Amino acid sequence: MRKVDYLIIGQGIAGTMLSWFLLQEGKEVIVIDDAKPNSASRVAAGIINPVSGRRFEPAWMYDTIYPYAKATYLQLSALLQVPVFTTRQIWSVFPSAQLQAAFLQKTTNSVYTQVPSSLRYETFLDQPFGAAIIEGATVNLGSLLPAYRNYLQSLSAMLPEHFELTKLEVSEQGVKYGDLQADKIIFCDGVATTRNPYFERVKFLPNKGEVLLVEIPGLETQDIIKKSITLVPQDNGLFWAGSSFVWDYPDDQPTAAQREALEKSLNQLLKVPYAVKGQLAAVRPSGNDRRPIIGFHPAHPAIGIFNGLGTKGCSLAPYMANHFKDVLAKKADLMPEVDLIRYF
Ligand SMILES: Cc1cc2nc3c(=O)[nH]c(=O)nc-3n(C[C@H](O)[C@H](O)[C@H](O)COP(=O)(O)OP(=O)(O)OC[C@H]3O[C@@H](n4cnc5c(N)ncnc54)[C@H](O)[C@@H]3O)c2cc1C
Repeated sequence: MRKVDYLIIGQGIAGTMLSWFLLQEGKEVIVIDDAKPNSASRVAAGIINPVSGRRFEPAWMYDTIYPYAKATYLQLSALLQVPVFTTRQIWSVFPSAQLQAAFLQKTTNSVYTQVPSSLRYETFLDQPFGAAIIEGATVNLGSLLPAYRNYLQSLSAMLPEHFELTKLEVSEQGVKYGDLQADKIIFCDGVATTRNPYFERVKFLPNKGEVLLVEIPGLETQDIIKKSITLVPQDNGLFWAGSSFVWDYPDDQPTAAQREALEKSLNQLLKVPYAVKGQLAAVRPSGNDRRPIIGFHPAHPAIGIFNGLGTKGCSLAPYMANHFKDVLAKKADLMPEVDLIRYF
């Protein structure tokens, strides 16, 4: 029987960050992950954007979480020797005169936005209402997740397999799983948590996102380009083009209907031909109030959760994982907005 402090289920961005901060605290962890190819973290573009949604509201806690995320990703990049974090300008094309006015009104005092003196990408983009520049970033999840997995393996802290809830034994003292014993188990398994009976009271509102991978001959940029669809340059020369939001879906696979909708948005943005080279789909793990879901089951204190990162996993995960670690180390009280207990 191997005894550790924490069993962590899932190595998306949530399990990666939580295990990282617990290891930094000197805790022994084992992460169990089945590497689902279309998990949210494996399909996401990794965008960090200070402005939220179509109403251009400042992203929740951004001034606090962004510097924290940046420092954490740069630290991991140095440790793992892979590119993880890139600051990028978001070239945000206004879809209408009304949205242009709304943007200017909402962002007058923002340090993260500016109105450019001249238009970029005139050959490529249809932008009759102009554009703004937002200071954002991307996290290269495609390099971070596998490199961190190897790091965990080098510490004998990774079990690359599917976790079966039926094999979990829970007591007041802790949990047992096969020949593993831990003080606590923390579910970081993304949308799979919605099927976990321990968390059936949580009001999850998962939503599916689809993405196209497109080639746009001649368009070379490091910027993110955003209108009703967002283009993110990839290492292989393609653009990640997404993503849709669907709340009612039979499965997590790509669909012809969303391909059509995404292509419609691409046709409204691009003045040049493009070629679709791939299509991806995944489900975002969200709670109904769009706040992270963190804490322990009130009746089973050995069972925890770190979930609900919604559309903002890359910006929220580092700060929230460190906060959870501080709570576990009894250095902080859990922020009420994120506390699992709000659902019980
Ligand atoms: C199309 C799309 C685009 C997105 N774009 C962005 C973006 O640009 N920026 C941003 O910040 N966020 C984005 N998001 C949201 C982001 O992806 C999520 O917030 C984040 O990835 C959630 O991470 P997670 O670790 O909680 O869950 P997940 O990434 O789903 O990770 C869960 C992990 O648990 C594992 N797992 C599940 N069940 C088991 C089991 N029983 N046994 C073992 N392992 C298991 C899975 O294999 C997986 O590795 C996007 C999401 C989608 C779908």
